[in-house]
Amino acid sequence: MTAPITQDVLTIPRKPPEGQKPNLIGLTRPQLRAALIEHGTPEKQARMREAQIWQWLYHWGVRDFASMTNLSKDYRAFLENRFDIRVPEVVTRQVSADGTRKYLLRIDGGHEVEAVYIPEEGRGTLCISSQVGCTLTCSFCHTGTQKLVRNLTASEIVGQVLIARDDLGDWSVPGQPKREERLVSNIVLMGMGEPLYNFENVRDAMKIVMDGEGIALSRRRITLSTSGVVPEIARTAEEIGCLLAISFHATTDAVRDRLVPINKKWNIETLLNALREYPRLSNSERITFEYVMLKGVNDSDEDARRLVKLIRGIPAKINLIPFNEWPGAPYQRSDWERIEAFADIIFKAGYASPIRTPRGEDIMAACGQLKSATERGRKSRAQIAAEAAAQPSAG
Ligand code: SAH
Ligand code: SF4
Repeated sequence: MTAPITQDVLTIPRKPPEGQKPNLIGLTRPQLRAALIEHGTPEKQARMREAQIWQWLYHWGVRDFASMTNLSKDYRAFLENRFDIRVPEVVTRQVSADGTRKYLLRIDGGHEVEAVYIPEEGRGTLCISSQVGCTLTCSFCHTGTQKLVRNLTASEIVGQVLIARDDLGDWSVPGQPKREERLVSNIVLMGMGEPLYNFENVRDAMKIVMDGEGIALSRRRITLSTSGVVPEIARTAEEIGCLLAISFHATTDAVRDRLVPINKKWNIETLLNALREYPRLSNSERITFEYVMLKGVNDSDEDARRLVKLIRGIPAKINLIPFNEWPGAPYQRSDWERIEAFADIIFKAGYASPIRTPRGEDIMAACGQLKSATERGRKSRAQIAAEAAAQPSAG
């Protein structure tokens, strides 16, 4: 097999900051218990302590040991001396006119990632990042142009969820009636990075988020989007079991090679074969095929017909994404009539074909526009001003 399709990036290993106590956020339940035992909690007590601490962290959203009132004072002091409860630092928080919230977060090493909250009728979706930057180089994606890449830890992935829930006041409050409605009701791994190139951390983070005694989001409310890392797709079904979205974007290998270069390694046929197995392995519903609409590149009637033919037999939903233009992007968004004509062909073939409404465009919160400010900081002021002026209007 050929080497992974990567650009000439600097992949930074994560260096645990010196002098810091181990962080409890991001440990899975077995890891949490092991850490408690390792630091001196008697084994007989460990299971109960694990359950108590877990509830404080992930059901009540507590961030300090002093608040864990069902633990003895001594045990709280014991924890305080040995562990931390840390989440990434919120650098900026922007709220769009349409209610979309974008968080710029700083992680260890000074790198920055973004998370975006999108409120909708009856649900709220949090779009989270799995890497700083991305080693893949999809030609329409702003994140893919970033030269700096580091995998996020499970802690940093879960941390994005905790921060959004803090900001939205989405935690249960002791003594108050149980809240059935969640503001963060859905999670999509569609921010920066390729989640399947950071499999273990993404899996552990999602295990934490799905745990019934904590945040308790059902696996059916989590969607992982991948550009098509074929060998990890079956593993996603077996070890996470969440819904899957595929960045499909083209109906011939020639065009997909150009848009999603990982296609040169695992082409359309190989990808589709892996996808056919997914619903059975994960016992889940339809797979979402994401399709970014690029003017004159992949948006013809012929493309639409080829698309439905290709995915025949796979329980699927096709999500048409109007291209989010970014400064210097080599593509343009398809005209609205073209997108509708394309959607119509798909609809007539029997597929739901929602067109994703661009959200939060005034704060550059849309898919594919996420790029860290560390990177942005290297640009001149003029460049930043030009970028701000070039924001596309909501369409
Ligand atoms: N790396 C993963 C997940 C992050 S990208 C993946 O590629 O699937 C999330 C979605 O946004 C993908 O479908 C991606 O193709 C799409 N996307 C990236 N840049 C975009 C842009 N400029 N406009 C519209 N969609 C974009
Ligand atoms: Fe990476 Fe996804 Fe962007 Fe491709 S579309 S460069 S895989 S983040």
